Order: sequence, then structure tokens, then C-alpha cells
Amino acid sequence: MSQSSQFISTRGEAPQAGFADVLLAGLAPDGGLYMPAAWPQFSASQIAAFAGQRYQDVAFAVLSRFVGDSFTAAELKEDIEAAYAGFTNPQIAPLSAMTGNRYLLELFHGPTFAFKDIALQILGRLFSRALTRRGGGATIVAATSGDTGSAAIAALGGLPNIEVFVLHPKGRVSEVQRRQMTTSGHANVHNIALEGSFDDAQSIVKGLFAEKQFASEVGLTAVNSINFVRIAAQSVYYFTATAALGKPATFIVPTGNFGDIFAGEAAERMGLATVRLVIATNANDIMARALNEGVYEAGAAYHTISPSMDIQVASNFERALFEASGRDAGWTRAAMERFARDKRLVLPPLILSELRSRYDARSSDDEDTLSTINAIAGTSGRVIDPHTAVAVNALRKFGFREEPMVVLSTAHPAKFADAVINATGAPPPMPEELRHVLDLPEQLEILPNNLALIRQFISSRLTG
Ligand SMILES: *Cc1c(COP(=O)(O)O)cnc(C)c1O
Repeated sequence: MSQSSQFISTRGEAPQAGFADVLLAGLAPDGGLYMPAAWPQFSASQIAAFAGQRYQDVAFAVLSRFVGDSFTAAELKEDIEAAYAGFTNPQIAPLSAMTGNRYLLELFHGPTFAFKDIALQILGRLFSRALTRRGGGATIVAATSGDTGSAAIAALGGLPNIEVFVLHPKGRVSEVQRRQMTTSGHANVHNIALEGSFDDAQSIVKGLFAEKQFASEVGLTAVNSINFVRIAAQSVYYFTATAALGKPATFIVPTGNFGDIFAGEAAERMGLATVRLVIATNANDIMARALNEGVYEAGAAYHTISPSMDIQVASNFERALFEASGRDAGWTRAAMERFARDKRLVLPPLILSELRSRYDARSSDDEDTLSTINAIAGTSGRVIDPHTAVAVNALRKFGFREEPMVVLSTAHPAKFADAVINATGAPPPMPEELRHVLDLPEQLEILPNNLALIRQFISSRLTG
């Protein structure tokens, strides 16, 4: 069995697992995150040959290196084809030129209009296949800052033997985002509006996993970006974009949980040449402070107009720390335990310099974001969403360089109509699929930020 289809935990105390187990489990049993035992390798000529290939074929080339004997090539192909059949743009993740050497990598052409669909549409299909084979059911709990919830519901709603619980921070997602989650009408979908922040929702999910007996009774699993399969699926567009440009690029990535930008590091570790990976954050700038000041420290969570990035604790940063430490699981475990206790971690100089050899970081406040949306609309007539705008502004702060500069455009502006109206005075164009959620009845439960009550609610829905 190849080392890239065996997975180890960043905390070093979980047995090696195969792809299907990693897919179904999400989090490793020692509390760490799964990583391939070794990264598969692509040569420069293999990567150059991705140019002009269908997105689906590149996705197959990358993902097939991770699946081992969990799925046959035919199964993986079938699920990749089906996953992207519902995208409205045949290129799936098209590059569109801004001015000069600047590009937007459009990742929002899936069913819920944000980049989360690109991974979750595949993950849902593979998940259902693996579950059928293993037998039994699964209870999926997902904490969402806004877009993962609807993408998970679009991927898993209506599937047999799966119950989906989505926790979003009450009042802190946009109206369209909330309605996309609460109007699915699927009996296996349960929405919880949590009286708390996204970080509270994420720590409730972690708390549910820590209750080992409950977790195993209900077959608890996570499809958050801690699930390695999402990272693998997201690494694909770094390859397709670079191959299309024909030379190494700098990628500017709107960052919350550090999943999307870590997918860029994953692509690099598989052999992709890039220039820099630029972390773009909003006022929730823990990642920018970590990189620029060397201290990873949770601050207060701000409610911003780019809500999908209103995150303080960036779960996937653990993966980057694991790699930057030379895959030292003992150090990573101790560091994450220290961070959990103190909410603060001083990054050792060697780790910091390793991170800085790959990443830069810039943050923007809401005012910057609004003026960026307005400026881009004024100069190009193109309306961008606030998350994309945070990245465009980070690009401006980072400075324009010689190499292609690629901004990951993570959501359709119609999901964030209020911000766009604030910025430009006019509403964004509204696709029909989003307009109709405004008329459908909503189903959601408002619950306090209390682990025991959430557990009881899940149990009662499962038995009722
Ligand atoms: C989830 C999300 C992000 C942040 O991605 P991470 O993988 O959490 O860093 C950025 N923009 C949008 C629109 C999102 O939905």
C-alpha cells in the first residue's frame, strides 16, 4: 500500500488509517488531524500536462493517489463526474483576468455558490458509498461560519442512514446563507442556531467528539475542513490554475479555518511550484498576527461583513505547524495542548521561519473591504463578494509583483447582498436558485451555547 494512502495523526497517538476511515472519521481519535504518511509526488512535466485537461480529470489524477484500496478507480471517477455535473460553469474553477497579471480564481459555481461545494460535493458521494459498505449510520455534526452548512446540506441532505446537524452562530450569518441552510426541506437535516460565536460552535463539536460513548453510539463524524478529504479536493484548483497560467503564481487566499490555504501548501508538498501563499484575513486576524508577530493567540471574535471568516481558532493551522516542525507529532501535540490551555502559543524561531518561507499575511477591516468592492465595481464593473474583497485588498497591501497574482474568489456576491449594497449602493445580481430560498419556510432550533443541551437535542432528534 502506498504511503500516500495511509494516514497518520498530527498528534502521533492514533493508529494509521486508510482513506475511507479518514473520510468517515474526520478527526483522529487522539484529537489530532489526519495527514498522509507521505505526500504523493507530481513531476513538473506531469503538472504542466494538466493544462487543457478537464478539471474532473485533474481531480481524479490527484485524488486517486490518496484513496488506496478504499475505492476503485471507476468508483472515484463516477463520484467526481457526478460531483461536478451540477456546476454552472463547465470549467468548474475558471480563472478570469482582472487587470495586468492579476486573476480571480472563481470557486463559486457550485450548487450553494461558495467554494465549499468543490470539496463537499465529492466528499458527500464518497461518504455515502463508504457508509453503505461499512453498514450502520452516521451522525454528522458541522459547525459553520456560513457556507460549510449549506454545502454540507446540499451534499448530504436526503441521503439514507445519515443525519446532519448544522450549528451556525445565531445572527452572524447572512440572510441568504441562513435560508440556504434552513429551507432544504430534508428530514435528515437539523439546523441549530447557536447563541454564541463560530468558535463556540466549533468547540461544541469538539466537545461532542470528546464524549467518547456518545460519539460512538451515534456514529459521530465531522465534515468540517478538518476532514482531510476536503483539503485533498481543494488542492486540485491550485494545480489547474498554475497549469493554465504556465508558470508559478502567488495565491492570495481569504482565510478563516486555514483549510483552503493549507490546500495550497498540500499542492506544494505534492510538487507544485508557487511563488507565495498570502493569507488574507478580516478583523479576525489571528493568522496574520501569528505570521507577522510570531504569537498564535486567540483574541475576541469580531462580527464582520465577511462572516465566513469570522473565526479565531484556525483548526487547520495545526497541519501547517506539524509540517513546519518537520512532522514532529510530539511537539505538535504539546503545542496544541498548550494553546488549548493558555489560548496562546509563542512560535519557536525555526518554525516561524519555516512558515514565513511559504506564507505572507495581510488583514483588512470592514471599511477596507467595502471600499475594495466599490473600487473594483467602479473600475471593472465586476461585483465581488466581501470575502474575495478581503483578498483583493490583501493583494493591494502585499504589492503587485512580476508573477501572476491569483486571488481565490470564494463566494458569489449574491450571498452577501447587504455588504454589496453598502459598498456600491446597488444589489448584486441574484441567481434564480438563490432568489427562491427567500420564499421557502425555514426550519431551525435556537439553542444556548451549552454542550449538554446540544447533545440532548441531537439524541432526541435521533430517537424521535
Ligand atoms: C469558508 C470560507 C472561507 C475561509 O476558508 P477556510 O478554509 O476556512 O480558511 C473564505 N471565504 C468563504 C466565502 C468561505 O465560505
